[in-house]
Amino acid sequence: MRVAIVGGGVSGLAAAFRLRAAGCDVTVLEGEGRVGGKIRTERADGWTFEHGPNGFLDSRAGIVRLARDLGLGDRLVRAAPEAKRRYLWLDGRLCPVPAGPGALLKSDLLSLRGRLRLFAEPLVGRADVEGDESVFDFAARRLGREVAEKLVDAMVTGVYAGDARLLSVSAAFPSLARFEAEYGSLLRGVIASVRSARAQPTDRGGVFGKLTTFPGGMGDLVDALSARLGDAVHTGRRVIGLRRQAAGWAVDATGGQAVEADAVVLATPAAVTAQLVGRLAPAAVEPLEAIPYAPAAVVVLGFPKAAMPRDLDGFGFLVPSREKRDVLGVVWCSVLFPGRAPDGHVLLRCIVGGARRPELVALGDDQLLGRVRADLEAAMGRLPEAAFARVVRWPAAIPQYTLGHARRVRAARDALAPLAGLHLAGAGFYGVSVPECVDRADALPAEVMSIR
Ligand SMILES: Cc1cc2nc3c(=O)[nH]c(=O)nc-3n(C[C@H](O)[C@H](O)[C@H](O)COP(=O)(O)OP(=O)(O)OC[C@H]3O[C@@H](n4cnc5c(N)ncnc54)[C@H](O)[C@@H]3O)c2cc1C
Repeated sequence: MRVAIVGGGVSGLAAAFRLRAAGCDVTVLEGEGRVGGKIRTERADGWTFEHGPNGFLDSRAGIVRLARDLGLGDRLVRAAPEAKRRYLWLDGRLCPVPAGPGALLKSDLLSLRGRLRLFAEPLVGRADVEGDESVFDFAARRLGREVAEKLVDAMVTGVYAGDARLLSVSAAFPSLARFEAEYGSLLRGVIASVRSARAQPTDRGGVFGKLTTFPGGMGDLVDALSARLGDAVHTGRRVIGLRRQAAGWAVDATGGQAVEADAVVLATPAAVTAQLVGRLAPAAVEPLEAIPYAPAAVVVLGFPKAAMPRDLDGFGFLVPSREKRDVLGVVWCSVLFPGRAPDGHVLLRCIVGGARRPELVALGDDQLLGRVRADLEAAMGRLPEAAFARVVRWPAAIPQYTLGHARRVRAARDALAPLAGLHLAGAGFYGVSVPECVDRADALPAEVMSIR
């Protein structure tokens, strides 16, 4: 069976790898001159940094299985123990996030009232909510408003660069919605999951996972996938149209002849998918175009370690929206994954923009660097002159699973259903994280081959 895969990000490459293993003859068509999409590791003058994901959580089996099948199983690099501590920027200072419920009870991160409300969570009844509920409303209802504003808002920033008031809890954090539905409480759901993970131990990072990468960064995953796929991957071939044929499909792309295939996997961002299917399934366009993507600027800064105003004793920090700062979060990359900075130096990666402040991504480099520096100094103290600086912009960085997301994906799938052999993949639909993109790729062989 011939399968054309449109888009050479991790979704498309992993799909191609799995489909080929299932016996398909695959062709990947990537519009840019390189594969990897949002995954890109850059090395410059002894600094190694990520343009996109810093790593992935190893809680899901699929991504670890993929790494093993690619021969990278013994090259998984887990976050350093020194990165265990995380901070929140609250009321103008960095506050350590308590590591567990006991520490949270004792910490002054939350007011006494906020702590008591949090620990009353198991007593809160199930939702009496019609339809979709926002992450913020869900968290405020179950955990209290203070936790929603400080902790959950920051978590949404960390994962989606998103706005907790706009995202759908069932689409963006399905396990939270499931805990409430199945256990009547998040706390009970977490306890049950931890117990069942302990009963079936794996070599992965448990229920919450450990942040994981490879020795050369996330680019190693893309390199290994491309090496295995070899000449099945075609870069510089932007797909511009799909045509139905008597049997199967013709995929028109720049830079060469149309590719004929029995099935097509669209592993493109939702707006591109909408354009490609628009003529064939007009009813799919509106739901696909209604999946917004938040822009983000990634500002990477290197400094001499000895001149830093404070010890970088953890992962970094997140900034809840109530602080009204420009920076969304900062990862102390050289602590997280040692070896990312030249000897005697530290590397920081700051995210700016997101759904909260999209306009900041359009600022010039100097302005952006100035704003980031001002926020870093307010949080950490006076910084030395940067030894390294780089700005990367993603105009459409992370899909936002806003209220109604599940309904939109269903509507798009229903509209595409009559077009036998056309399949949706990519971060826009079934999960934004790298492991979720890989899980979708794992599901594709059965779905694609079912048309035979
Ligand atoms: C700054 C940032 C930080 C992140 N951090 C994390 C993290 O720590 N952990 C985590 O798990 N995830 C993280 N993510 C999310 C994750 O990286 C992405 O959701 C995931 O990599 C998306 O993969 P994809 O293949 O679905 O899409 P993409 O990577 O967007 O790939 C789509 C591909 O399709 C190509 N394309 C588009 N149009 C066409 C066309 N017409 N024809 C042919 N090709 C086309 C594009 O060029 C691109 O290569 C982060 C993302 C960003 C931006």
